[in-house]
Amino acid sequence: MSNQRAKRRQVKHFFCPFCETRLWRSGKCRYYIFYRNAKQIRQNLKISAKKASLLANQSSTYLDKNAWIEEFFCSTHGAMWLYISRNQQKLITYRLATREDWLQTNRTPDPTNPNPSISEFSYRISRKSYYRFNQDFLSPKS
Ligand SMILES: [Zn+2]
Repeated sequence: MSNQRAKRRQVKHFFCPFCETRLWRSGKCRYYIFYRNAKQIRQNLKISAKKASLLANQSSTYLDKNAWIEEFFCSTHGAMWLYISRNQQKLITYRLATREDWLQTNRTPDPTNPNPSISEFSYRISRKSYYRFNQDFLSPKS
């Protein structure tokens, strides 16, 4: 069992991928990642094909509680969504969420295609960081 000191060391800060400034959690809910077939389970959990197909057969979708998309704020670049994953050693890695990541969540509130419940203000700031993101990382596909 882990002691207090080990726990405290796991506190992780997140930094803006554009300017390296510390990011702040928006406090909104996390969008957990789902896998829909054995292949996705195997690739993401890095387990054997046999184990993966076993998990896939248990239900139509597998919810990965160690991978989610969460909203953060940079004082310069505004709101952005990070894809966060935690490995078996509880180490956290993160990167900007892609459109493909959103398609694997249960809610899919794709910030580049907002639904009417998102306020105009938060839409504008998320669009700003996503515009940069799209330019930097995605090749335009229609
Ligand atoms: Zn920034």
